[in-house]
Amino acid sequence: TRQWRLASRPTGEPTDENFELVTVSRPEPGPGEVLVRTLYLSVDPYMRGRMRDAESYAEPWGVDEPMEAGVVGEVVESNHDGFEAGDVATGNLLWADHAVADGDELRQVDPELAPVSTALGVLGMPGITGYFGMTDVADPDPGDTVVVSAAAGAVGSVAGQVASIAGARVVGVAGSDEKCDWLTDDLGFDAAVNYDTTDDLTVALTERCPDGVDCYFDNVGGPITDAVWGQLNRDARVAVCGQISLYNATEQPTGPRKLTQLIQTRASVEGFLVGDYQDRWDHALERLGGFIQTGQLQYEETVTEGLEAAPDAFLGLFEGENVGKQLVKVGER
Ligand code: NDP
Repeated sequence: TRQWRLASRPTGEPTDENFELVTVSRPEPGPGEVLVRTLYLSVDPYMRGRMRDAESYAEPWGVDEPMEAGVVGEVVESNHDGFEAGDVATGNLLWADHAVADGDELRQVDPELAPVSTALGVLGMPGITGYFGMTDVADPDPGDTVVVSAAAGAVGSVAGQVASIAGARVVGVAGSDEKCDWLTDDLGFDAAVNYDTTDDLTVALTERCPDGVDCYFDNVGGPITDAVWGQLNRDARVAVCGQISLYNATEQPTGPRKLTQLIQTRASVEGFLVGDYQDRWDHALERLGGFIQTGQLQYEETVTEGLEAAPDAFLGLFEGENVGKQLVKVGER
């Protein structure tokens, strides 16, 4: 069986050199463990942090060690009461064809309910991040103007639609016209800005947010965030979900910027982590599943074929190559 290992730690943007595909013997499940054959694996922006040798909310990967990932796979062999061969399970496994995990750490996926890949996207960690970040942290009132950055990504696309469902006016920021059209034509966003082709993002935002910004769901940081902060209203709320524009930076910009804006607006800024919502995970899944059924929530997946292409799929996140959730398809069911 094959698995990807971290060959070396990147400086700045990762390259192919930082990853190594090795062939190892297929692991055997121990007591309470389950052997899973990967169907889909998830590449996620936070993995850039795990390539770094620094304290973070996710532990660094060891050099020459296998890399972990959210996986949906088929159970091949189980020493755990909750699973039997043929079940579809999801959990934190490896960038690999096969991996074993403690059955207590896995969840069943019901293939009748939705395509199994959604357990890594709209009905998985990213969807739940968008859901709680919007409902608990940004918490818009009906009629509020909400801006979402990386709006056409896995988290942003859910966050924006959850805000729409709550009755807010939603404006997305994304990196291509194709993505912006998807947001407004298919996802029901009220407006979108392509930050890549806009000469002046402040002007573009002012046009699309004539009443200012009440909530900002931030996935990116950097210049996009600076421009949105300039539009914040009195008592605005900023939910800091991610800062992808800084993940490959070799030097962090000095200090939090634009803080005077917070004084003028009495805005509040709150970071959050989806991991803190474990006990309400099922509640979010129920809500999101319901929104999909009623047609209020649309989703997209960008599927890259083959385990060997996993690093490219991961690196594509930093180039904006994905629409919706970026997945790697590793095996057939
Ligand atoms: P996405 O599916 O949104 O993929 C990343 C997207 O970010 C790209 O498609 C690209 O879209 C955009 N992007 C990349 N580089 C830049 C840049 N320099 N400036 C602006 N936009 C950029 O990923 P996820 O939905 O999985 O994650 C989104 C964010 O949420 C990340 O920051 C991630 O770390 C964070 N996150 C936080 C969690 C939490 O618990 N707090 C949990 C999960 C994710 P475009 O074409 O628009 O540029």
